Amino acid sequence: MESKVDLTFCGGINEVGGNALLLEDHIHNVKLFIDFGINIKSYNNHYEYLQFPKSVEELIRLGLLPDEAEIGFLNLYQRESVKIKYNPSNASSKLDAIIISHPHRDHFLALSFINRNIPVYAGEFTQKIISAYYKCTKRSIINNFEGIKWKLFRTGDIIHINGLEIIPCHVDHSIPASYGFIIKTSAGNCVYTGDFRMHGPLSWMSYDFVKKIKEYKVNTLICEGTHVNQGHFESEKKVKRNLKQLFKQMPYDYALVKYDRLNWDRFRTYSVIAKMNDFNYIISEKDAYFYYLMNKDKIYESMRHPNILNDDHILIITNGDVRFKWQETIRTKLYKEGKGNRLLKTKDISNLNKKFLLYLTRLPIKLIEKLNKKFKGVFISSYLDPYTEEYVDDNHSISRKLMQLGIPSYQIHASGHIMPHDLYKFIINVNPTTLIPIHTEYPHFFESLLENSEIKVLIPEKYRKIQLN
Ligand SMILES: [Zn+2]
Repeated sequence: MESKVDLTFCGGINEVGGNALLLEDHIHNVKLFIDFGINIKSYNNHYEYLQFPKSVEELIRLGLLPDEAEIGFLNLYQRESVKIKYNPSNASSKLDAIIISHPHRDHFLALSFINRNIPVYAGEFTQKIISAYYKCTKRSIINNFEGIKWKLFRTGDIIHINGLEIIPCHVDHSIPASYGFIIKTSAGNCVYTGDFRMHGPLSWMSYDFVKKIKEYKVNTLICEGTHVNQGHFESEKKVKRNLKQLFKQMPYDYALVKYDRLNWDRFRTYSVIAKMNDFNYIISEKDAYFYYLMNKDKIYESMRHPNILNDDHILIITNGDVRFKWQETIRTKLYKEGKGNRLLKTKDISNLNKKFLLYLTRLPIKLIEKLNKKFKGVFISSYLDPYTEEYVDDNHSISRKLMQLGIPSYQIHASGHIMPHDLYKFIINVNPTTLIPIHTEYPHFFESLLENSEIKVLIPEKYRKIQLN
């Protein structure tokens, strides 16, 4: 029998991140991808820092991009993307849309390669963060969002694609502008959670999502399960509390701080801690520009602080002469405000007469070696989830270097993902007919978890169509 709806999982199964789910509704005649990410962990296994893929084909071969041959499409990608420039002469694609849940790279990065005729639906601020990421990251084949046909939504909107209705709703995650979706397919209502948590500072957003879901009878729940089998009691508040404790009797002159640039919560927490303890907070020019772009839009209240132009405890390391437009923008803005003294050269760090936090997206060993030897430091790794989607560096080699330099390290973080007890409550509350686990290394755990319930667990396999009726 022909099915009404087919789901094909092209990534994010048996792994954390790299979500790319093809939903085909044959009654409404719609084909769309929900999320279009790249698994960052396996990407980093194949490419060194600043080493880039040569082609779409190469990424398909490595299993990092959905294979058109497997899903029966042509023109999903613009091959011209190899030349980076947007080429409007792409033939039209058979895909109707791509919808992005949130601006983490393991959910959106593959957009770099898509045929520009495909409309991309994203939250208003989701798009802004992606575009700020684009502007602040080295242009390459894998960072090319030029010419994308964006269609923006907010919570409260209903998205119509042909006859298909999608209801987006905000959720709390480690990055603002994260959404879950209720999709009213011809085979019943389908919920896609994206990445979410119930324990974060904006948990009311996730509860809104639950409330919205409860208005519907859910047939299929496609649920993230990063932490299905392992929990920690942690929160951004606890991160702040732990940092306060460490800083209260801080014998060190500086702290090297590491977290992901896209983690706004963490940036705010560190900025507050620095200010409270009379530390300077040193960030790179790129970070300053990224956060300046966020400040400028400040759609969310949380986007106002810290404020790159006004917060004088934030110092910015500049890198030589102005070579790019973004450098000019951030430097000019600061000079205009009479804050030119907040721009530092690397060598100035050793002459600071104040304790400082040095924030690093990557660990430039050379810079640390150059720091004044009389300074004593500590390293604080604050990845949201060291083992999940935004994990970039090899922690071990960093630890080795820090050992040589006599810098002790701490790990203080909070997860962006729902904890086991909250996840179990969520599933029981939603009470779907079928549950499909994604974004987890332990999909089979859901089977044992729900063994005695009425909920059927379906473990997806890559490229194997799941038929819904
Ligand atoms: Zn995420």
